[in-house]
Parts: sequence; structure tokens; C-alpha cells
Amino acid sequence: MRILDITEKTVAISRYADPALPPGGLTTSVVAITTDARRDGRPVTGYGFASFGRFGQGGLIRERFAPRLLAAPGADLCDPDGSFDPRRAWSVIMTGEKPGGHGERCVAVGTLDMALWDIAAKLSGEPLYRTMARRFGEPSPPSGRIEVYAGGGYPYPADDHARLRDEMQRFRDAGYTRAKIKIAAGDLSTDLKRIDVAASALGGADRIAVDAMNRYDRTACLRVGEAIEPLGLWWFEDICDPLDLDLQAEVAAGYGPPIAAGEALFSLAEAKLLARHGGLRPGRDILLFDPVHTYGVPEFHRIVSYFDAAGWPRRCFWPHGGHLFALHVVAAFGLGGGEVNPGSFQPFGGLADAMAPENGAVSLPEAPGIGIEGKAELWNLIRRTFD
Ligand code: MG
Repeated sequence: MRILDITEKTVAISRYADPALPPGGLTTSVVAITTDARRDGRPVTGYGFASFGRFGQGGLIRERFAPRLLAAPGADLCDPDGSFDPRRAWSVIMTGEKPGGHGERCVAVGTLDMALWDIAAKLSGEPLYRTMARRFGEPSPPSGRIEVYAGGGYPYPADDHARLRDEMQRFRDAGYTRAKIKIAAGDLSTDLKRIDVAASALGGADRIAVDAMNRYDRTACLRVGEAIEPLGLWWFEDICDPLDLDLQAEVAAGYGPPIAAGEALFSLAEAKLLARHGGLRPGRDILLFDPVHTYGVPEFHRIVSYFDAAGWPRRCFWPHGGHLFALHVVAAFGLGGGEVNPGSFQPFGGLADAMAPENGAVSLPEAPGIGIEGKAELWNLIRRTFD
């Protein structure tokens, strides 16, 4: 099998479901990889996108990584028996890349990697989580049913508390039992009020995770940690600069409930630093590594395996993402659960149209691949972009 064509487009996304609100300037990359393999009379094409929060990666994809895949002979992409192996294709993408200097090349690689996994599962005629589990020698998941929570709760430019309450009630009415909201955009009293609003809507503070988006300095970390510790939140996320491991360890030493970290670390090398120096507590704290932002699934699986060996239960992994692909990774590797963005980052965030959360859990689509074709708004965008 060979890759015939790779097309990339950078598209705008918004943190808000309401198109009237300022989107904030975020973008993501979407790619289509077309192969010479055919199913049902059509070329097999895989689709990927760059997850959220790190902007589009078009230059790196077009100029550096896609040409390597396009130039690769089929033998470099396939097992000796001729079956396509996304991990071999990943090695082709990384040809000549030096260790370190992750920057955001890891996001460009992860974007292509997502499309490669979509191809592999479509070739196998099965949902992605099954293909992925088999390729990594993981136990075959009995089903794609996984725990989820609704991610959102970004600060609104006006009527923040009322709109946050409406958003949380929509999550609850849609079948979610837990949610994550953002804090750290205002002062401490604003954060506490947001937490109270969300906890009231979802039925308890233990159903709410808070994400400080790596914004707090030392003074703020410690003050906020002290203030929210008695609330019994589900977790406290991204509390300071992601590489200020000394500060994170200092906060963890004085904050008893779960903290969550790893969303803004992009490699196994960085994950090891977090495990050794970030003060995290195996079995209690939460690991957020994003399988797209960490160079794709091969590197993500190395991170999972490293934490396995360090004594962490897999239930501690709740990957950042909020989209279908990350949920397949959760199912394939038996992780704790996944984020869903029902309103943010549309049309890429959220579930396929036929999926409905029930008591905080969902079943993944059984269609071959990621199931992007079953998410009408996303599929329409892809067809408009690439047809
Ligand atoms: Mg976060």
C-alpha cells in the first residue's frame, strides 16, 4: 500500500458553542491522507486533525512531514505480510528528527498519525479502538463503552455566571454527570463563584474538575489551592507553568485532593521529568497527556507504558482532547476515561451524532475507522475542504 496524496488545511475553531461570542483566534489543522488501497470501490482515505489549543501546524505538515510519507515505498509502511502499520509510517514521518526540541512539531506529527490510524482501522473494517488495541498487544476491549466528562466552562465575556449555569445544565441534561470548567481568568472570588455555580448545576463539587490553564504564579497557586482544598473537587488541573515542576511539587505537597497534569507536555522525555519531579502521587493524581499533541499514538503508548512500570494504574489517565479519536485511545488502552467537548471547538469536538452519554458514559461507534463520517457537521466540513 502506498500513500498517494496528503492535503492539509488550517481552519478556525472557537472555545464557545455560541458563534456570536469572540472565538479567540484559535485554529487547528485538518488533514486527508489518500491511499492506493480501495474498499467498496473507493480509495481508502484517513482523516486527522490537530486536537485543540495549540493552533494549526500547516507549514510543518506540508513542508516537512507529508513529503516523507508521500515518498515512502509501500514496504516502509507495511508489515512483511503487506498489512499497513501506522507505527511504521510514524517512523517514516520521524526520519532524521533529533531528540529534544519538541516545540510543536509533535502536534504536526500527531495530526498525521491520527489520519494514519483512521486508514488502518478502515482497512481492517473495524472501529479504531479494536485495531489500535491489537496493534499494541493490548487486551481486546470487550466494547467501546467508556467513562466521559464534559469539558468546557470557558469564561464568558458577559453574564458569565448565568451562562456558565446554562452550559452546565445542558451538559447534565445531555447525560453527563461530571464536567470541567476553567478558572484563573479572574480573582479568587470569581473562581470560587464559578465553582459554586457549576457544582450546583451538576449536583456536587466532587463532579467538577477545575482547569487553571497553567496561568497561576507561585502566590496564586498556593492561595487558590488552600481555598479550594476543602471543596472536594474531582481534580485541580494545569495549576502552574507545565515545566515548573518544583512549583507543582510544592503545591502537591500541601494539597490533598487529586491534581491533574501533563496536558502541555509533549514527549516521553518530558513525561519522565513530570513523574520524577512533579510531586504527583500514583493512584491519586490524574494524567492528561493528549495522544495527538504527544507525537501521536506511538509516543503516547510509550508514555502509558512508562507510567505502568512506575506503578500507576491506568485509570489515572484521562487524556486531554475532547474528540472521538482520543476516546478510541481511551478504549484501546483501558484508560480511566475521556474528555468530551460538546460545545467547544466545533465541529471537531464532541461525539458522533448517534452517540448519547448515559449516566456519564458512552459507547463508541462500531463503524470502521474513527467514525468521523458519523459526525455530520465535521464530515460536511471535511467534504467541503477536500472534495
Ligand atoms: Mg487543561
